Amino acid sequence: MRYVSTRGEAAPRDFESVLLAGLAEDGGLFLPESWPILLPEEWEALRGLPYPDLAANIIARFTGDCFEEGALLAMCRDAYAGFNTPAVAPLVQLDERRFALELFHGPTLAFKDFALQLLGRMFDHVLARRGERITIVGATSGDTGSAAIEACRDRASVDIVILHPEGRTSAVQRRQMTTVLSPNVKNIAVKGDFDTCQDMVKAMFNDAPFRAEMNLSAVNSINWARIAAQIPYYAYAALNLGAPDREVAFSVPTGNFGNVFAAWAARRMGLPISTLIIGSNRNDILARWIGANDMSAQPVVPSLSPSMDIQVSSNFERLLFELLGRDGAKTAATMRAFRETGTMPVPDAAWRKATSLFRALAVSDEDTIAEMRRLHAQGYLADPHTAAGTAASHARAPDDASTPIIVAATAHPAKFPDAVEQATGTRPGLPPHMADLYEREERFTVLPNDLAAVQSAVRAHARRNR
Ligand SMILES: *Cc1c(COP(=O)(O)O)cnc(C)c1O
Repeated sequence: MRYVSTRGEAAPRDFESVLLAGLAEDGGLFLPESWPILLPEEWEALRGLPYPDLAANIIARFTGDCFEEGALLAMCRDAYAGFNTPAVAPLVQLDERRFALELFHGPTLAFKDFALQLLGRMFDHVLARRGERITIVGATSGDTGSAAIEACRDRASVDIVILHPEGRTSAVQRRQMTTVLSPNVKNIAVKGDFDTCQDMVKAMFNDAPFRAEMNLSAVNSINWARIAAQIPYYAYAALNLGAPDREVAFSVPTGNFGNVFAAWAARRMGLPISTLIIGSNRNDILARWIGANDMSAQPVVPSLSPSMDIQVSSNFERLLFELLGRDGAKTAATMRAFRETGTMPVPDAAWRKATSLFRALAVSDEDTIAEMRRLHAQGYLADPHTAAGTAASHARAPDDASTPIIVAATAHPAKFPDAVEQATGTRPGLPPHMADLYEREERFTVLPNDLAAVQSAVRAHARRNR
């Protein structure tokens, strides 16, 4: 299995190199040179497998010869053993045709654990073999930082430094990061906002000597391995509801377009998915694009579903490349025009192709609250991101009423207790493995908005130097 860049100017690479590189050197994103396709009987053979076994079977189609026989299965079993339900990704029926696919039973209570728990293990595996060590540096406004820290804690070949804006993350989100006391984990609270943190991370990556000295790496959502690790739960859910003999639809609350692109990939591999519904919040660039081929960036506005407060969905470039017939030069030109003008000129034919599969709805904060209240009255407590997905699944349901709609439930309600309480009057409690989160010791360093100070903290932390 080899990988090509969406901008067509990077040499094809194998999985290991794609895992470690993240972004292609021409600025594009990696995709498989050709998609593995499963026949109906091959899908059927996966039905009823335990989740880790199914995941290993599907992911193996993307990893080529990167892992020795049995190693990938062992990593999947280990990664998903840390989830607090044996089903790993349980389906809960919401009404006659709707199901919640609960993706929040991992260590940090959001779907990002599915990919990052596995990625941490993959990194350790290939780095040990290469005799290398990396330093992961990232900025977070909330969910990504804790999922990355949980994935990298105590890993032999990885050190991780996460910057968060001091006093600007929720208490649950901060404590999920700062109470991890493993020696290879460092949290830095920067005096500034999320953009300050993000700019510092970019500056560290652009400092070539520093980047080489620390062997810096990133775990952001453009890494192909993250997408690959999210495909299995779409297959798992669809097979449980009758695929490959029956079509299903998915509704996915989306920010960076990563999670819904994994669903697209599952369909590309032959899973019978009739419709993909995108749930957005007031940051509605994707809904405007689906509605009227208007892909124009506007300022980000805060909402009740902060993990979707994004205007430029970085993973969209992967779909664009596919819609443009895998033409790297056209994709690169389209992305360049977007960067220069703020509006992406997607050809009408490509847009029309997309609208035969995708539907989208931007859900306001008021409608998110109303949807959480409605679900609660029916006995289901949903977080604001999940509620955007269920709301979209009603407004944009496929016409064929016999098609089940599976909504990706991306976060546990206890991650967003204020919004859930505002909507339902019920304050969700943390699950047992985190019940003492507020009593745990926190450890973090506060630093000024000063790149040199942050770089010297990273240097002091990285075992790479010893
Ligand atoms: C990250 C996140 C999303 C958005 O996922 P994308 O892959 O960026 O589309 C949605 N919900 C929650 C809870 C998240 O943490």
